[in-house]
Amino acid sequence: MDWDEFAEWGTKISQWAAEYHKTLAERPVRAQTRPGDIASQLPKAPPDAPEGMARILDDFERIAMPGITHWQHPRFFAYFPANAAPPSMLAEFLVTTIAAQCMLWQTSPAATEIEGVMIDWLRQALDLPDAFTGVIQDSASSATLSAVLTMRERATGFTGNREGLNAKGNLRIYCSDQVHSSIDRACWVAGIGQDNLVKLPTRGAHYAMDAQALEAAIAADRAAGHVPAGIIAVTGATGIGACDDLEPVADIAEREGLYTHLDAAWAGAAMICPEYHARFWPGVAGFESIVFNPHKWMGAQFDCSVQFLRNPQAQLNTLKIEPEYLKTSGSPVTNYSEWTIPLGRRFRALKLWFLIRAYGLDGLRARIRNHVAWAEEICDAIRAMDGFEIVSEPILSLFSFRCPGDDARQQRLVDALNDDGRIYLTQGLHEGRKVIRFQVGQFDTTRDHVMMAADVIAEVNSTLA
Ligand SMILES: *Cc1c(COP(=O)(O)O)cnc(C)c1O
Repeated sequence: MDWDEFAEWGTKISQWAAEYHKTLAERPVRAQTRPGDIASQLPKAPPDAPEGMARILDDFERIAMPGITHWQHPRFFAYFPANAAPPSMLAEFLVTTIAAQCMLWQTSPAATEIEGVMIDWLRQALDLPDAFTGVIQDSASSATLSAVLTMRERATGFTGNREGLNAKGNLRIYCSDQVHSSIDRACWVAGIGQDNLVKLPTRGAHYAMDAQALEAAIAADRAAGHVPAGIIAVTGATGIGACDDLEPVADIAEREGLYTHLDAAWAGAAMICPEYHARFWPGVAGFESIVFNPHKWMGAQFDCSVQFLRNPQAQLNTLKIEPEYLKTSGSPVTNYSEWTIPLGRRFRALKLWFLIRAYGLDGLRARIRNHVAWAEEICDAIRAMDGFEIVSEPILSLFSFRCPGDDARQQRLVDALNDDGRIYLTQGLHEGRKVIRFQVGQFDTTRDHVMMAADVIAEVNSTLA
């Protein structure tokens, strides 16, 4: 393909993209295909001869598109959002065009320097103290793994990487029983082990980690000769949106000399609104590491996960490695690959630069406030439906409910709704019961899109026995 052909196809694809988004609401949200439907339409072996772009794109529409679940659909209420605002998409188009490896300052100074400034813009937007710097990672899972490795190294006097963990005792990490599975996996991969991840009960309206239970667990572990290494708190956990009280957790960590990490992957975006910051984030300044995904609620295209660090030194001591071929001469600069596990890195800051400028913080705040207000409104509409029950009240824009009937009946309603296709919801498990989760967060959803869900739920429910 030459560059003139590229330009021609690029124009066609951007027209296709605009048309796709303009007509998206007419499509079923969740893919309506069965396992194997897509793969069975592809040739078993790769072609030996070249094929034309027209045929390739034709097959994309014919074969791939029916198997797509539309995350940018305005009636996507499942999981958490994975927004891709148009300016962010355009930035990604440029990034993919340049395709620079931004591992070191010298391998693309603009990527490093814009990343530093975007981290600081977001730091200000989230009202974190000046001291915080940070790095953009691919996902919250990677940021959490980096923090857990840092906890491990700090607790072993930075000897784990060299000596291994065979003689280090039982390193212990504490969190609530609401945390995301990425915390478990970080502990598996870091060599800490599931049995040394201590999950504490929660209490109160926001299902916050029980601080007394946390203190007691640390004391019991010390008495048993274990090695407490860190505490992981959450703002907006996946199940029902649990939010820990950060102040007592940070105080305990400080007293006990433990490293702290906060998982605000989803709800962090809402902290650009002072009223939610005041409600959920008192004490946040006491955390060492905080992760928040602009690629969820805020509108940046996946992948874009920001990890803020109060002092990056401990993480650098854990992850930095400098073979000869990565050394650069000249004045000292930031080489962000030293802050993370992967070496290669994309120019992820560009989409933040485009996104924040195109909407302004006020434009982004307005969306989040609308989503929270509409979640409260649809929650009340479902509460008023015959036999329906709200299980967890809205925490920001997430709540959960049950229809009349047992656990199996909840799943039948979820499946029937997703087969119907007008809306997309997923189930969860809360206090041993199956619940139906509802979150509002798609970038361009409107009040009408959200409120329509109540009618769809009532209608589909009435068709089930
Ligand atoms: C989505 C989510 C994660 C995982 O995020 P990735 O970026 O996909 O790794 C972790 N924790 C919470 C609370 C989340 O909502």
